[in-house]
Amino acid sequence: MVRQQIEARGVRDPRVLEAMRKVRRERFVPVSVRNYATSDTPLPIGFDQTISQPYIVAYMTELLELDGDHRVLEIGTGSGYQTAVLANLCDHVYSIEIVPELAERASQTLRDLGYGNVSLLTGDGYRGWPEHSPYDRIIVTAAPPELPQALVDQLATQGRLVAPVGGDPDSQKIVLVTKDARGNVRQRDQLPVRFVPMVPGPDGP
Ligand code: SAH
Repeated sequence: MVRQQIEARGVRDPRVLEAMRKVRRERFVPVSVRNYATSDTPLPIGFDQTISQPYIVAYMTELLELDGDHRVLEIGTGSGYQTAVLANLCDHVYSIEIVPELAERASQTLRDLGYGNVSLLTGDGYRGWPEHSPYDRIIVTAAPPELPQALVDQLATQGRLVAPVGGDPDSQKIVLVTKDARGNVRQRDQLPVRFVPMVPGPDGP
């Protein structure tokens, strides 16, 4: 999976490749699709949601340029697969999931696998998680129509944020947002992608 799908498409960071080798995707997918756990596609995880394609997980992780002392905010825990990859590469992951059943299942999986550096919250990712901000890195794994300002506000100086952005699934792009030492924000479009939409919480985006 790593050699053919991820290295072959240009992901080079050895730490990211090592984390992708270590985290077994089959542990995060439902039993019904376990035979396809290493396939080069997203897979259903219930509640109309999907676990992302392995390459996209690796690509977004590499864009974050993670360091072992970083505190990371993730929006869209889903299966917990991306969370586990991040947890191997940083100090602590704070992850928010809006579907309680998915949050519960991910929590169980991550506990079973022994991840102690992950905190999960069931709630609306549009608000971020202000209590633990600012975050050195932020990753969003469901697509909002526009970049949520609350997340940009919760990004530390010299931070990086990676998110799929776009309301129309045919024109979504991964964007990389950087904040410099003075707090100036810059946004760059990266790969075209197709993610599940980020759903508005009870108070809207
Ligand atoms: N990173 C996940 C893939 C998640 S799919 C994995 O590795 O499995 C996107 C997830 O975002 C879904 O689980 C969906 O329920 C969640 N989501 C959608 N809108 C959200 C919101 N407003 N706040 C938090 N999570 C949200």
